[in-house]
Amino acid sequence: MNAMESQEHRDLREAVAALGRRHGKDFDRAALWAEAGKLGYLGVNLPEEYGGGGGGISELSIVLEESGAAGCPLLMMIVSPAICATVIARFGTDEQKQRWLPGLADGSLTMAFGITEPDAGSNSHRITTTARRDGDGWTLSGRKVFVSGVDIADATLIVGRTEDARTGRLKPCLFIVPRDAEGFRRSAIDMELQAQEKQFELVLDDVRLPADALVGGGASHADGCGGEDSGLLQLFAGLNPERIMTAAFAIGMGRYALTQAVEYAKTRQVWKTPIGAHQAVAHPLAQAHIELELARLMMQKAAALYDAGDDTGAGEAANMAKYAAGEACVKAVDQAVHTLGGNGLTREYGLARLVTAARVARIAPVSREMILNYVSHQSLGLPKSY
Ligand SMILES: Cc1cc2nc3c(=O)[nH]c(=O)nc-3n(C[C@H](O)[C@H](O)[C@H](O)COP(=O)(O)OP(=O)(O)OC[C@H]3O[C@@H](n4cnc5c(N)ncnc54)[C@H](O)[C@@H]3O)c2cc1C
Repeated sequence: MNAMESQEHRDLREAVAALGRRHGKDFDRAALWAEAGKLGYLGVNLPEEYGGGGGGISELSIVLEESGAAGCPLLMMIVSPAICATVIARFGTDEQKQRWLPGLADGSLTMAFGITEPDAGSNSHRITTTARRDGDGWTLSGRKVFVSGVDIADATLIVGRTEDARTGRLKPCLFIVPRDAEGFRRSAIDMELQAQEKQFELVLDDVRLPADALVGGGASHADGCGGEDSGLLQLFAGLNPERIMTAAFAIGMGRYALTQAVEYAKTRQVWKTPIGAHQAVAHPLAQAHIELELARLMMQKAAALYDAGDDTGAGEAANMAKYAAGEACVKAVDQAVHTLGGNGLTREYGLARLVTAARVARIAPVSREMILNYVSHQSLGLPKSY
């Protein structure tokens, strides 16, 4: 018995690793997504009554980590089953659960998540995408940026605001916007990043939505937004899974790069021993391995707290795990590229493209500095500069 991981978790890890090995680094994203969905991996965290596995983020993070460690990370897992399906499972109406959860669980439906705005960036309190009551439904207007996978998603969960009838203040609300809704325009951003999922700038130009586009519904509440502050609660419910899954994404990528480097260092020989015998090559790889393991330990802590219902405890741990995993991933990839010498920059080995990809985990969904701010203020009680 492994004290850190149950047999069930280790079996899941091994099964996903085997699937990942079959697909490999030149994977067909849609084919892998479909197969992972069919095998029940994309919905391991969702309730059984909607076709999910009845597990939690602990299981879902294993799936993403292992697919990444095999060189075929499924980026959309961070948003579709982890954020969107979690929010709908926890706050959606019965109709919304029936409509979306079975498909999100088996991968036949995908949902993107849009919160970032050009003029708000890290300061999500400044978002201005606004919903107005329009007859029975809503009209949504605003702009989003860097939203991943909108073209391959059936809908995007858009974070907007509605005006509080009493105070006039804008408060968050989450809307499910179908891909082809009128007035919902997307343009792909020309990223240096080489990934199968594209990032989009979105324009919501008076997008007319039915009443049931609002997560949780609004009809039965005087404030029209599924209950006082429920939008904020819904948003927070998605944030911890997002950070834990980004940590899994980073750890998977870091492990993949490290594995390639270790294999290379064992066989490449330019003096009388393989290069891996030189401590200048071996020690940084050992260090990268330690840092990835440490990050995984924090990720497991965050996932365990979240799955146990401790949202507050999970908040600190999820931030720390995302930070540690992002840093460990960037260092592991950098060292892996260096270990391969000139080959580190060839397309054949495919490691150089990870230099850019690894940076994503440092920037998104919340930057390294914003996590350091969180820990400074929330954990250490230091004063704020902003
Ligand atoms: C590949 C990729 C995929 C993404 N996918 C999605 C998605 O699917 N959906 C979505 O909504 N968003 C997505 N994003 C957006 C991502 O969440 C943002 O890029 C991120 O939150 C940072 O916002 P920003 O880019 O506007 O940077 P800014 O907020 O402009 O920050 C720029 C720099 O200033 C620093 N900074 C800002 N404020 C402070 C402060 N108070 N103290 C110290 N430093 C500070 C930041 O740390 C950062 O280094 C994605 C981004 C990328 C790169």
